[in-house]
Amino acid sequence: MNKERKLIIAGNWKMNKTVAEGLDLVHGLKLELASVKEVDIVVCPPFTALSEVSKAILDSNLRLGAQNMSENGLGAYTGEIAAGMLKEFSVRYVILGHSERRQYQKESDALIAKKAASVHAAALKPIVCVGETLAERESNQTEQVLDTQVRGSLCGLTREQMVETVVAYEPVWAIGTGKTATTQQAQDAHAFIRSLLAKMFDESIAKKVRIQYGGSVKPSNSRELMSQPDVDGALVGGAALEVRSFADIIKNSI
Ligand code: PEP
Repeated sequence: MNKERKLIIAGNWKMNKTVAEGLDLVHGLKLELASVKEVDIVVCPPFTALSEVSKAILDSNLRLGAQNMSENGLGAYTGEIAAGMLKEFSVRYVILGHSERRQYQKESDALIAKKAASVHAAALKPIVCVGETLAERESNQTEQVLDTQVRGSLCGLTREQMVETVVAYEPVWAIGTGKTATTQQAQDAHAFIRSLLAKMFDESIAKKVRIQYGGSVKPSNSRELMSQPDVDGALVGGAALEVRSFADIIKNSI
């Protein structure tokens, strides 16, 4: 598939996998995906598996991501993880503002903006998640919600930082539900987000930013989703937990 921007497909393992299970998964992915050059492939294990997974993928085309990070540097923040700690394991990407964190940890756009600034300050790349709930979509508030989240969580970034930021459009109603947005719904939301980035920065920056789709992506729908002009990859939850399904999502997207 000939895309304007290089595809980036990331697996968010969430709170799953022991170290041994995580190693099994990445060993399988390494074998399956060794020849893939067209896609930036990212695995995001829980913090507890970062060290071992990092060593296991050292000589591969898999890159490492974390699922969250503190907005603060080292210090008295019990239970938190700082950028410098992630860098020790060659982490390249950090997922921020996932809807589960917005819901359960009450993360706000302002907090996500601070975290995004800290991620960039450490020369890591944030994957910033945005997306509407079902009630918001059904009451025609999708664009309003995306406008607030995109502006609120990306507002402090420089132009250079924005280009190195990935945005993940994840309609909350499609996450872990088996319900995928239609390709048209995904394309419309992605085009809207890109138009917002053009207003906040400019057209040339907006054209460079990769926007992933997330929400029940599976091998059977990845090709159609990735064929949309403004869909530049996927953030995958459930289907990223098995070698077969994650590898097929990637292979079917090329
Ligand atoms: C996610 O949590 O980011 C996600 C998209 O999950 P799933 O693929 O399981 O819907």
